Amino acid sequence: MSTMNAPFVSVVTGGAGFLGSHLVDRLLAAGHRVIAIDNLLTGSTDNIAHLAGHPRFTFIKHNVTEYIYLAGPVHYVFHFASPASPIDYLELPIQTLKVGSLGTHNTLGLAKAKGAKYLLASTSECYGDPLEHPQKETYWGNVNPIGPRGVYDEAKRFAEAMTMAYHRYHNMDTKIVRIFNTYGPRMRLRDGRVVPAFISQALRGEPLTVFGEGKQTRSFCYVSDLIEGIYRLSQSDYHEPVNIGNPTEFTILEFAQLVLKLTGSQSALTYNPLPVDDPKQRRPDISLARKLLHWEPQVDLLSGLSRTIEYFRDKV
Ligand code: UDP
Repeated sequence: MSTMNAPFVSVVTGGAGFLGSHLVDRLLAAGHRVIAIDNLLTGSTDNIAHLAGHPRFTFIKHNVTEYIYLAGPVHYVFHFASPASPIDYLELPIQTLKVGSLGTHNTLGLAKAKGAKYLLASTSECYGDPLEHPQKETYWGNVNPIGPRGVYDEAKRFAEAMTMAYHRYHNMDTKIVRIFNTYGPRMRLRDGRVVPAFISQALRGEPLTVFGEGKQTRSFCYVSDLIEGIYRLSQSDYHEPVNIGNPTEFTILEFAQLVLKLTGSQSALTYNPLPVDDPKQRRPDISLARKLLHWEPQVDLLSGLSRTIEYFRDKV
C-alpha cells in the first residue's frame, strides 16, 4: 500500500479470539488499521497482548449482540465473534445463538452504514452430520436444529441467510467463508476441542479422551493456511460461501496416535461416549478455493502439530 494513502480500516469482531487475533495480525501486516471488538467471553487479551501500543491497532471490549457505534471510516468488517467449541455451545447456548443472529445483524448494519465490505466467518457445521462426502459448497447439509449443536449450526446458517439478504437487497459486497477444523497457537488449552485436549493430555501424561470409538474423521487445517485463504477471499469478488480447510482426512484414533508420537508421551487412550450429533465424517472439497483464490494449504499436519505442541508445552 502506498504511504500517500490513509490505510484501510478493518473491524474484526472476535478479535481477541483464536482465529480473530491471527486475522488481526494478518491485516496489520497488510497495512490496515485494525479495530478488534471482543467481549472476552471466550476470547482473551493474551492473544493480542503483543499488539499493545501498536499505532494501527485498537481494542474495544464490547458485546456485538448490542448496537455497535464507531466513529470514522470503516472499509472492511470481519465478523468472527462466536463461541466455537462444542463444550462452549453447551455452556453458552443463548450467547451462541445471539452472536450468530443479532451479532450478524449488527455487524452487517455497521458495514452498510460505513459502505464497508463484509466477511462472515461461517462453518463446516452448516453441513451438520454430512450425507455428502467430501463436502462441497453446494451441499445443503444435514443439521439437527434442536440438538445441543443446533445453537451454533443454526445461528451460522441464519447468519449466512442474513448475509446473502444484505448482499441481494442492499447490494452490499459480502463474503462467506465456511471454516473447517483449524488448529494452532492461541487455541485455549481447555476449550474442549480435540487438538488442545489431546495435546494437553499427552503433555501431562494423562489418558487421551477419545470420544466414541474414534472412527469419526476430521481434516485439520493449520491456522496460517486458513488465515491466508480468508485474506484472499476478502480481496475477491465472490459472494457465495467458500470452504477453507485442509482436505487431508484422519480418524480421531489416528490423530490421537500422531499426538502421542509427536509428544513422545506414554499416555493411554480412554474411550468416552460420543457427544450427541457428533459428525461422523468431515472433509472439505476445496476445488472452489483452489480455482477462485489460487489457494491451498501449505502446512502439513506433522509440521503444524509440532509447532502447536511447542506452543502448548509452555502452557500446561
Ligand atoms: N473428540 C475426542 N476427544 C476429545 C475432544 C473431541 O475424541 O477430547 C472428538 C469429537 O468427538 C469429534 C472430534 O474429536 O469427533 C473433533 O472434535 P472437536 O470438538 O475438536 O470439534 P468438532 O469438529 O466436533 O466441531
